[in-house]
Amino acid sequence: MSRSFYPPQRTLMGPGPSDVSPRVLGALARPTIGHLDPLFVELMDEVKALLQYAFQTDNQLTLPVSAPGSAGMEACFVNLLSPGDKVIVCQNGVFGGRMKENVERCGATAVMVQDDWGQPVSVDKVAAAFDAHPDTAILAFVHAETSTGVRSDAEALCALARERGALSIVDTVTSLGGIELQVDAWGADAVYSGTQKCLSCIPGLSPVTFSPRAVERIQNRDHKVQSWFLDMQLVMGYWGGGGKRAYHHTAPVNDVYALHEALLMLREEGLAAAHARHRHNHEALVAGLEAMGLAMAVAPEHRLPQLNSVLIPDGVDDAAVRTILLREFDLEIGAGLGALAGRTWRIGLMGFASSERNVLYCLAALEAALAREGAPIKAGAAVPAAMAVFAA
Ligand SMILES: *Cc1c(COP(=O)(O)O)cnc(C)c1O
Repeated sequence: MSRSFYPPQRTLMGPGPSDVSPRVLGALARPTIGHLDPLFVELMDEVKALLQYAFQTDNQLTLPVSAPGSAGMEACFVNLLSPGDKVIVCQNGVFGGRMKENVERCGATAVMVQDDWGQPVSVDKVAAAFDAHPDTAILAFVHAETSTGVRSDAEALCALARERGALSIVDTVTSLGGIELQVDAWGADAVYSGTQKCLSCIPGLSPVTFSPRAVERIQNRDHKVQSWFLDMQLVMGYWGGGGKRAYHHTAPVNDVYALHEALLMLREEGLAAAHARHRHNHEALVAGLEAMGLAMAVAPEHRLPQLNSVLIPDGVDDAAVRTILLREFDLEIGAGLGALAGRTWRIGLMGFASSERNVLYCLAALEAALAREGAPIKAGAAVPAAMAVFAA
């Protein structure tokens, strides 16, 4: 006989999932009701309104896809693209590569705009790609590149797409709730996110929102969407509102309770206050890391407050340090990915995990682990440096 699984209480400061608040976990444990129960239908309407607030949009087609962020990504691509379409895909980290995969699996052509890992997407290069490919239908890019900790200028990129008559697909998996995101004001067309990053909800849902222009493109398709599950024309019948919901799939009822609670917490705090909290905790963490003698991997003007890439000092064993943090401090931080594997750590300060407590805990634990590994760090400086930022 196997036994029940009781996970340890970790502190999650990696690239996601982030710590889930007790309020959200409590919501998850409430009684399951039917997914067509009138009370659940009401809850779905509330979730839609709360998502519209989080995304800053009036888009009617706004809903959580019943699967993780990668499914939201796929939903945007399969619904907007048809075979033969040309798509400019910006790549400055892991997730742009996944966008390319999606484009090609739709039978469309990806025109790649590459930037170095650790740099934002170059708006000038994208403009040049539009010059070279004026028949481009879609521009796809990542707002907050979680693999490197870099923010790209989503407002400028969405404006450029509009100017060139293209629609935009924007990955906001790590940006939603952590940094400014204005879907309507920026004119973004198909936007997807995730629940386990700055919303601090459990993993497994992907909020998406489609502009009226994107909806028009979906409705005028002459080619069936290749995915039955992610076909928004079918999903709309279930999430569309107006009381007449058709069965499409069984909504993950308790997950939706959890998302509702997480979005309620975001609205109670307010977007501006949530963004300011992420920024402030980021500044304190960076002050502490630098006081210890570590260097950040990304230039200050491009840094994401919710995902901090720090360079691993020469001669320090990446995995050994992360193992000490996990085994002895129950603290998870992220390893570098792709071009940055073995060169950086990624320290998340996302959602509920973006707290003064976590900043101080991480600095103290990292200092202890680095000292144990014989790294040349300045002992005792990190926590006071962070506290000075909090006191300011
Ligand atoms: C985490 C992440 C994803 C994928 O989300 P999953 O929920 O893991 O499928 C996509 N894009 C970015 C930028 C991410 O950080």
